[in-house]
Amino acid sequence: MSMLVLVCGNVFDGLSEALTGPAEILVDGNRIAKVERSVKRPPGAQVIDLSERTVSPGFIDTHVHLTMDAANLALQTLQSSAAKALKALSLAREYMSYGFTSLRDLGSVDPEWPTIDLRNALNSSLVKGPRLFVAAHIISASAGHGDLRGFYASRWTLPVSAIADDVGSIKALVRREHSFGSDWIKTANTGGYFSAGDDPARVTWFDDEMEALTSTARQLNMPVAVHTGAADGCKQAVRCGARSLEHAYLIDAEGLEMAERAGAYIVPTMQMTQEDLQELQAGTMPCQAVWKFRRDSDGILASQRLLAGSRVKIAYGTDCGMFPFSHGILEFQAMVKAGLSSVRALKAGTSVAAELLGRSDLGVLAPGKLADIVAMPGDPIADIGATAKVDFVMKDGAVYRATSGLARQNL
Ligand SMILES: [Zn+2]
Repeated sequence: MSMLVLVCGNVFDGLSEALTGPAEILVDGNRIAKVERSVKRPPGAQVIDLSERTVSPGFIDTHVHLTMDAANLALQTLQSSAAKALKALSLAREYMSYGFTSLRDLGSVDPEWPTIDLRNALNSSLVKGPRLFVAAHIISASAGHGDLRGFYASRWTLPVSAIADDVGSIKALVRREHSFGSDWIKTANTGGYFSAGDDPARVTWFDDEMEALTSTARQLNMPVAVHTGAADGCKQAVRCGARSLEHAYLIDAEGLEMAERAGAYIVPTMQMTQEDLQELQAGTMPCQAVWKFRRDSDGILASQRLLAGSRVKIAYGTDCGMFPFSHGILEFQAMVKAGLSSVRALKAGTSVAAELLGRSDLGVLAPGKLADIVAMPGDPIADIGATAKVDFVMKDGAVYRATSGLARQNL
């Protein structure tokens, strides 16, 4: 296996409250072997000079939709699963160049399994790109957020929604996700803003339905991610044992306390709120979203301030696919704008996200961890904007992006 030494000007290790200063990282194959002030160079080891850079664990985005193009959802439905998977691969690679070495995809709009096929191809190294964790479909009540028939009024029988309205059918959908290889169960227990015919202020699962979903997932050892908006929806998700609350747009103090006590993670998708505010101001927001977002935008920002003042576990997630992947890196800045410290934002995108994924071998720079490593000029704790300047990306010990003069592996 190849040996590599990274000479680092400064280090954010994923866990410390401050940068830990200059260091050298010895990479042996796909793992970090040593992180020390200086390491002995094994014969033949390649040395990469990052002495003008701050080095960090690879970033993790825990909420993307690689196969969903919000602007063209209806047209996209007519594409084959293979076409969606290939486009998704291209997006995943592009996104990795920003520093994202692991992604969790939270749902495709396809009767088949394009994100599962993509994950298998990536994780077996059949194709190169970020590692992927997948919830294939969004299980929902009819008239809930995952019921997409409203987007295809004239073709509403297209089998693109994973919807169920009784406990038996809900269990069957969870079991189907398991059979076909989903890592996670994704559900929505309230409506959303951009969807037609539902409302984030309304809870769409009855308690016994949500309980049937989460207990079936638990039996199959699958974690559950819940798209949720209303405070009552956030609380239902926590009560039923959700591992992550996605968006949690309108969570209140009681809901946050419940999440904290339960050890649930919040993925607050704060950049999306910034994108939505811009669209509202520019008058480009789709009409089905305008009345809901106008009603709730102050409430969403108030919930984000509560979140920043709490001690709940916050993980990095963007909802890219709903807006361009080129903006996903801005979540770090949106988190700080909402009042999180830059260190908490950096941990959200590294060690805390890895913990959410149940992967203790990711998100931290330490001996034994997988060598997913990025580097950027500047100090991201002093200026979170530095995260948008990543110019070195390594995944599994292989260099995917490097400033000129450094070794490269072609994708
Ligand atoms: Zn989403």
